[in-house]
Amino acid sequence: MCIPKTLATMLLAASTLPASPPVGRLQAVPFTDVHVQDEFWKPRLETNRTVTLPHCLKECEDTGRINNFRIAAGHRKGEFAGRFYNDSDVYKVIEGAAYCLAQQQDPKLEATIDAIIDEIAAAQQPDGYLNSYYTVAEPGKRWTSLNVKHELYCAGHLFEAGVAYAQATGKTRLLEVCRRMADHIDGLFGPGKRVGWPGHQEIELALVKLSRYTGERRYADLAKFFLDVRGTFRLENNKNPEYNQAHKPIREQTDIVGHSVRAMYMLAGVADVAGITGDEGYIRTMDTIWHNVADRKMYITGGVGARHGDEAFGDNYELPNEGAYCETCAAIALAFWNQRMLLLHADGRYADVVERAMYNGILAGVSLKGDTFFYVNPLASRGNLHRQPWFNTACCPSNIVRFIPSIPGYVYATGEGGIWVNQYMAGQGRIALPSGRVTLTQRTDYPWSGEIALAVEPPGIAEFELNLRIPRWWGGEPRIRVAGEELRNAAVVSGYVHIRRAWKPGDTVQLTLPMAAEWMYAHPNVIADHGRAALQRGPLVYCVEAVDNGGRVSDLVASRGLPPAVGGRIDLPGVQAIRFGGVRVGPASWAGRLYQSLPAGEPVEITAIPYFAWDHRAPGEMTVWIAQGPDGVATQPAAVSDK
Ligand SMILES: [Zn+2]
Repeated sequence: MCIPKTLATMLLAASTLPASPPVGRLQAVPFTDVHVQDEFWKPRLETNRTVTLPHCLKECEDTGRINNFRIAAGHRKGEFAGRFYNDSDVYKVIEGAAYCLAQQQDPKLEATIDAIIDEIAAAQQPDGYLNSYYTVAEPGKRWTSLNVKHELYCAGHLFEAGVAYAQATGKTRLLEVCRRMADHIDGLFGPGKRVGWPGHQEIELALVKLSRYTGERRYADLAKFFLDVRGTFRLENNKNPEYNQAHKPIREQTDIVGHSVRAMYMLAGVADVAGITGDEGYIRTMDTIWHNVADRKMYITGGVGARHGDEAFGDNYELPNEGAYCETCAAIALAFWNQRMLLLHADGRYADVVERAMYNGILAGVSLKGDTFFYVNPLASRGNLHRQPWFNTACCPSNIVRFIPSIPGYVYATGEGGIWVNQYMAGQGRIALPSGRVTLTQRTDYPWSGEIALAVEPPGIAEFELNLRIPRWWGGEPRIRVAGEELRNAAVVSGYVHIRRAWKPGDTVQLTLPMAAEWMYAHPNVIADHGRAALQRGPLVYCVEAVDNGGRVSDLVASRGLPPAVGGRIDLPGVQAIRFGGVRVGPASWAGRLYQSLPAGEPVEITAIPYFAWDHRAPGEMTVWIAQGPDGVATQPAAVSDK
């Protein structure tokens, strides 16, 4: 490939990372040091371990994904099965298994994973190359289609799996496989070598992870190289460079465009590299793009990627409801990126986005039982969309299986000598500070209640800052008691209340975040939401489903005048419903006409459930954004009919 001389010179100068300490303000407390003991997440973690993980392992076996490695190793005869990126699903399931094993020993599971790792290791070629598709189906054509085929993408997921499995079990067989593959790629790509980048981003964040774990600086340098060269020229076969964010160098990008998962993985990698280098160009780009995402292109559920075509972001405010794509992977990747932005900037706005995605757009992606999945997550349905046990392209189930058990890692961070409480969930964190290890115990029924009690147990008297995130969905003054005394005039700075004091064992903090059900409205430029409102309670976004509402929801009009009430029985275990008044203006009122003046509505009580819990009962219509009428509609339907 011919690279312009000036570009080659620039790459040589800019390709290696300075040997400076990380510039990110915070470090996450590893999920292995956080024990979740609540009624909301713990059952989901348990279901992930006992149902989702075995289910995904079985699917990987039944669909030939694991067998592809056996064929590549020469242990079996046969042809490559499935899509060219199927290796990545096996790696993601191994990563998920590793997170489960880190929390709970399971010799049988570990033996199963060890046996798969043996096949993967055997499929690695003598020069370190590893990709079962090219080895079996297109030998001799390695690295001939960077833009379309997913060799670097698959390698990234291999690296994430290898690091996770070594962290969880101490076993380094897969990690060694990773190092040989990373060395192989490093030998091919870089300044003075081949210049190119992956069509599907992922390897960038994975190389930084591998670098941090192994201490091998070259891997982070390679991540920076792949990001620095992206978009500096047209890659082969790339007719639409916006699709994979290669339309211009990353530092010149200002809007989020193209395939949503690729974009989010790329920005997670950019945040990782910026967290090492402090690169102002990357930080400025991410800050600009973040506002474009959060203020123009993100759904209230934390879903991103509005368009089915190209699985892509749309224009500003282009947020259709029934037509929303919102791939589960994109919401997960949005959380990956925002967690990294949180660590970089120590600003609660990023943890707010993580929370929004975690409780809504991501969690809807897997059933309560744990064995069926959504690939797309629209905000309205006619009842014809249901979770599936698996997909030919199975990125979403294999992303769920690794994301859910990693959730404890999103709860706490440390930095600037203090503890940062980023997410609220009951359980215990063991947090290392310069002054010693602090045990922090949360007691709360979050997200059903906003009463949060924190017990602080330093080894002795220790002065440090305890920083509590005040979510932006709570617009009032935070109510906080420290060691029994009310904290007056607590300022919220960058989304956190900062409490500095000499803590002693047994100190407690009580935080109250009142959780009323609130009507939310979209910016007027979101045409799809004109005249509509969505219910949110704490971090949970609600929806209305036909099964709770007389078989239809598209003819319901909510009354703005009657406050929604939390509670009432619902046939979904562990789920709290919300009820509110409205009217139904059903099709019968139209008597076959297409248009007429507004007919009378029938007063009804409308039931909403959390969005994550939809599609678990009789199929039917669902909508997050509900038509909303003036205050009188529900209470004075007769007056409306008099018109
Ligand atoms: Zn996916």
